[in-house]
Amino acid sequence: MKITDIKATTVTVPLEAPLRHANGCHWGRFVRTIVEVETDEGITGLGEMGGGGESAEAVFRAMKMRLIGHDPARLEEMRFLIANPTASLYNNRTQILAALEFACLDILGQKWNVPVSEILGGRLQDEIPFASYLFFRYPNAGDESGEVRNIEQLITHARELKNQYGFTSHKLKGGVFHPDYELEAYRALAEAFKAEGFARDRFRFDPNAVWSIEQAIRFGQSIEDINNDYLEDPVFGLSAMHRVREKVRMPLATNTVVIGFEQLAANVLNTGVDVILLDTTFWGGIRPCLKAAGICETFGLGVAVHSSGELGIQLATMLHLGAMLPNLTFAADAHYHHLADDIIEGGKFKYENGKLKVPTAPGLGVKLNQDRLKQYSELYKQLGSYPYDQDPLRPGWIPLVPNNRWADPTDARIPNIKI
Ligand SMILES: [Mg+2]
Repeated sequence: MKITDIKATTVTVPLEAPLRHANGCHWGRFVRTIVEVETDEGITGLGEMGGGGESAEAVFRAMKMRLIGHDPARLEEMRFLIANPTASLYNNRTQILAALEFACLDILGQKWNVPVSEILGGRLQDEIPFASYLFFRYPNAGDESGEVRNIEQLITHARELKNQYGFTSHKLKGGVFHPDYELEAYRALAEAFKAEGFARDRFRFDPNAVWSIEQAIRFGQSIEDINNDYLEDPVFGLSAMHRVREKVRMPLATNTVVIGFEQLAANVLNTGVDVILLDTTFWGGIRPCLKAAGICETFGLGVAVHSSGELGIQLATMLHLGAMLPNLTFAADAHYHHLADDIIEGGKFKYENGKLKVPTAPGLGVKLNQDRLKQYSELYKQLGSYPYDQDPLRPGWIPLVPNNRWADPTDARIPNIKI
């Protein structure tokens, strides 16, 4: 089989409300680039990458020169063809490779009539538990709905998600407000659920690595009595994580400082992180995540499935990955439930008891809804990209690492974001 064409289409899909994070905000929508790889046997495979627009589409177009005529089964060779590690000094194409790997695996699964997870090791579980990924949120400009700023709003929102989707693990994304305020919020959330009879629910906190070591130690020591899965990226840098780990009695996790094999090796030799959050995009595909998981298994490190903001195609890669991991003992993360819609046939994946079923149809098990693709491609053309690392209400704000330029939790303004 040979690759005959590669198409890339950037879309923007609305979120239920703007999601705030340590570096800024998702301005009420995600921007993703959908990749379609066509073959001479009439099979088309799907891939997905974060961000996009003209530059992303141009990169995928440029890959055609290398990949037309390439056999999609030669995945390892494709790695060297487009992401040779020595050439990566000039062209870092890890995320491009990931999207193309997804598409090639999707092609192979369809050709061989098996789901992707059956190609790469086989399912160990049929469904994957997910955490309720809680964010502080700005209200929507139109009807002022969706705000999560004060603690009461946070608990109400978490309760709604738990009731709607059945989550029993709860992740709070912090790094927005002063750590003392977020500590109060995290503790209040855990205490509220305990008081409501959910004493076995699990919690995790992620300030996106913006604290000082001392702030991280103080926060970590103040939550040791909670059912924490882990504390995620409290500080930036492996050495800094190492220093926090000496003083805080709970696992530390990262999707920031161990996102490649060199870093994983460094972490094995001098461990600063206990749980590696595997991201099918950041690591360059599903297969590198499996390799990394094997190393983690050997050296006694934990793994979990990371979310870098996904539509249904990428979510399918996360589900196949999770299903194959013998050492997956944590609920996966997904931004997915914050989305208002998806570009796959049949609409959004549906949670049951906090879990999603691993697709069993051939390939990734998802198909493009061409109407939706067109609709959200048009919306992207209309709205363009948004500055992920900017806060719509604080123009000129430049967060530091470690940060001390926190947002004000009493600031109730509403950003005028068009969706
Ligand atoms: Mg994280």
